[in-house]
Amino acid sequence: MPNPKRRHSNSRTGKRRGGNQKIKRASLSVCSNCGALKLPHTVCNSCGYYKGVSVVKMEEKKGKKE
Ligand SMILES: [Zn+2]
Repeated sequence: MPNPKRRHSNSRTGKRRGGNQKIKRASLSVCSNCGALKLPHTVCNSCGYYKGVSVVKMEEKKGKKE
């Protein structure tokens, strides 16, 4: 069986991996209702709208927190 004769340096391994191992920034989308930044494919955190429909009533949410 063929085997590697020499160990690769950390630098060489890093160069190969570099493109695939980046930590990705969290992608954000803009809410169509209030314009706040939110995670895509989720209900808006500030107004409770998703796809132009009020999914979560923010009054109820506030009541539970306080
Ligand atoms: Zn919103």
